[in-house]
Amino acid sequence: MAIVENIQFIEKEIEGKGVTLVAVSKTKPVEMLMEAYNAGFKRFGENYVQELVDKYEQMPKDIEWHFIGHLQSNKAKYIAPFVSLIHSVDSLKLLQEINKQAAKHNRVVDCLLQIYIAEEDTKSGMTEEECLEILKAETLEKLPNVRIVGLMGMTTLTDDEAQIRKEFKKLSVFYTKLKTQNSEFRTLSMGMSGDYGIAIEEGSTMIRVGSKIFGGRIYQK
Ligand SMILES: *Cc1c(COP(=O)(O)O)cnc(C)c1O
Repeated sequence: MAIVENIQFIEKEIEGKGVTLVAVSKTKPVEMLMEAYNAGFKRFGENYVQELVDKYEQMPKDIEWHFIGHLQSNKAKYIAPFVSLIHSVDSLKLLQEINKQAAKHNRVVDCLLQIYIAEEDTKSGMTEEECLEILKAETLEKLPNVRIVGLMGMTTLTDDEAQIRKEFKKLSVFYTKLKTQNSEFRTLSMGMSGDYGIAIEEGSTMIRVGSKIFGGRIYQK
């Protein structure tokens, strides 16, 4: 029951804020996801292709599946038939491959461009310059089977709140600027279990929460 209570707790926190919750269910068994599903929650995020495909096959078909991990181009074909949103597009090459695979299924796949905001260089993503290059009309024209609906970012792994806020703010400013020029922009994916409160204050519209839902602990007022 903890899973359902945790989701309800977070849903209550974000109520009326225009923020969507993605339950990050990576490494968790289907039974745990089904607990959430049976309580009416149908939006899950996974970061391994094989695991996502396995869960997709085993679970009801009205689930919204989000891919949030690093995606290798040669694996795009496995998720292209059904994925709802890919949060983690980090290169033009990957976007081209998603476009190609989505076309085979007559789909337009929603994608976010993952922007590099952390100070450490271990996190994948692209620079703002690369992002602007991709968003040029000449580039997008050739990619009719993908729709770039916003941005995603992950902060430096640190307890320094000021640092985290600064990184979220930077991404949010960039997103807001792009939104005025890109009519499809509607999603700013930032914030995880430890920092979604700050992310929402800085303008997040989608949070990706794993351990605070599936971690076992029950969150209550
Ligand atoms: C695991 C993961 C999350 C969720 O992290 P928690 O701290 O468990 O909430 C969010 N985003 C990405 C990209 C992840 O890999």
